Amino acid sequence: KLIATVAGTALALSLAACGGGSDSAGGGDKGTIGVAMPTKSSERWIADGNNIKKQLEAAGYKVDLQYAEDDIPTQVNQVENMVTKGEKMLVIAAIDGTALGDVLSTAKDTNIPVISYDRLIRDTDAVDYYATFDNEKVGEIQAQSLVDGLKAGGAAPYNVELFAGSPDDNNATFFWNGAMKVLKPMIDSGDIKVVSGQTKFEQAAILRWDPATAQKRMEDILTKSYTQETVNGVLSPYDGLSLGIIAALKSNGYSGGGKKLPVVTGQDAEVQSVKSILAGEQYSTVFKDTRDLAKVTVAMVKAIGDDKKPEVNDTKTYDNGTKVVPSYLLDPLSVTKENVQTALVDTGYYTDAELK
Ligand code: BGC
Repeated sequence: KLIATVAGTALALSLAACGGGSDSAGGGDKGTIGVAMPTKSSERWIADGNNIKKQLEAAGYKVDLQYAEDDIPTQVNQVENMVTKGEKMLVIAAIDGTALGDVLSTAKDTNIPVISYDRLIRDTDAVDYYATFDNEKVGEIQAQSLVDGLKAGGAAPYNVELFAGSPDDNNATFFWNGAMKVLKPMIDSGDIKVVSGQTKFEQAAILRWDPATAQKRMEDILTKSYTQETVNGVLSPYDGLSLGIIAALKSNGYSGGGKKLPVVTGQDAEVQSVKSILAGEQYSTVFKDTRDLAKVTVAMVKAIGDDKKPEVNDTKTYDNGTKVVPSYLLDPLSVTKENVQTALVDTGYYTDAELK
């Protein structure tokens, strides 16, 4: 009896301490932050999750970190559970930006603030802040590196194919529009020829950012449109897609003793792609330091927790269909072979050994 009472008291105390009774381990006593990430199938999201967890715990929070393996109902469920447990705040990188409205309106009703992480949550007023990179700029520097790489290889015209991200990810259109700012004038002037004729976002988009789908699309394009022509460049918005695209190119006679691999872009500076860049295969990537994104997000959490206004630097760009979400935009960085060392190794993002 005595033991039961003592145990009961201890439980009550620990529930009070974590401000709502989550069962997550680690961290301090400022309450639990629910962190919903899309998938572990891409390194960047693993890094994001780890960085946020570490920094939130250092700030005295507990963390309930969940991954949904790119399955929308799984993520909706995870967020629902976070709301039911009464977690203090939510940080969410959505799989489908439009799928969370219902569950988040419950969060709003119970005063749980929501921070949209990297990807904008759409069509709901139940999102308070947005921490991300300048997504249009990502597209611009991606396309600019494509053009730089093409020019370094010879004079126009260039045969180029275009890939876009997942249509349910708000970022995908921002990347595309940014890239088109650079590429459209060249397509219009004839300096760039999209031999497949597939120049629309809907034609270029790859659902759920799936590398295998990109590989298949590249293979189809090579088979149908490149029997006579050679492809000189491929706009790819994400390293995972780039690897699929390069695999398709290799199996169609590019690189090695055959035709030269085209200039292929990317995003996220994932290890395999950085290695590919160092090996002279993928041409570029866009580095978005997930440590900085975590820092901005944790600063938002702390400010909200202290009843202060989080710092934002953009209050007009990210209209989610219901409201313009106050945002903090970080600067992305274009990386080619030339600056892998300074951008990724000297900054401690990767060790030399990780890139060998
Ligand atoms: C992110 C990119 C990432 C892509 C695929 C986007 O929302 O902003 O960094 O490459 O999702 O995971």
